[in-house]
Amino acid sequence: MHPLELWWARATSWIYRGDKYLCNLCGFGARRLRRRGHNHPVIVSKQISGAGRRRVDCPKCLSSDRDRLIWEYLKIVLPTPNNQISILHVAPEIPLSNKLQELQHQKSITYQAIDLKTSGYHYPKWVQDADLTDLPFNNNQFDFIIASHVLEHIPNLQKAILEIHRTLKPRGQAIVMFPVSRCQATDEYYQTSDFLENAKPKPSPTRKEKIDRFGQHDHIRLFGTDVIEILSETNLLEVFALAWNNQTDSFDSIDIEKQPQTDVLFILKKV
Ligand SMILES: [Zn+2]
Repeated sequence: MHPLELWWARATSWIYRGDKYLCNLCGFGARRLRRRGHNHPVIVSKQISGAGRRRVDCPKCLSSDRDRLIWEYLKIVLPTPNNQISILHVAPEIPLSNKLQELQHQKSITYQAIDLKTSGYHYPKWVQDADLTDLPFNNNQFDFIIASHVLEHIPNLQKAILEIHRTLKPRGQAIVMFPVSRCQATDEYYQTSDFLENAKPKPSPTRKEKIDRFGQHDHIRLFGTDVIEILSETNLLEVFALAWNNQTDSFDSIDIEKQPQTDVLFILKKV
């Protein structure tokens, strides 16, 4: 997110002022939300959640529904102020990152943010250039790793999972989100054999292929109904799928295939 985008959002947020929605990150009350996302036919045909053009952004801080969902979860699991905890935020969403950095002053939190920096994109100074598949951190360093809409971009998923496991403390947890198809199994552009030493490099998919097959121009995977098995394949992490229940104002464990419209929070716990 470019600082100018945020400046513009703040300057024009008064247009949206109201009491239908309350942003849990910045406290803004809105009568409606701002739009985000792109519509592609595949989003409907493959019943992909967490994608498409929709009104989900806070008009003032530009947090998305998923940033606010992660914060709702963190409010429950972050320990009391006296406990020293460390958080790694991968490809940080600015509104959520601002909240966590604010917390550093109130709680004993060590917060680090990383991204695999790509030319043409803006990154705040406090974001370190690092790769989730090759993290420059010690074993057992983090209590929480947040990676929202990251895993669907990474060719070698297993390497990312191994790094998450290595850098999490025992009983630490990764909070991850990504688009999920409710009607098909996970579709991978790359196969395990593509990552073997001496494997012939596979050509990158075209932009059109990525949009038509995975729903976005830079995705190389579409998670599906078997996502829990895929993420727990290494037997290193326990995986839970949670969704927000509006009736009870709490998180429920869910079955991916039976909750077609819900954004899902995946929790990967180091056992
Ligand atoms: Zn907000």
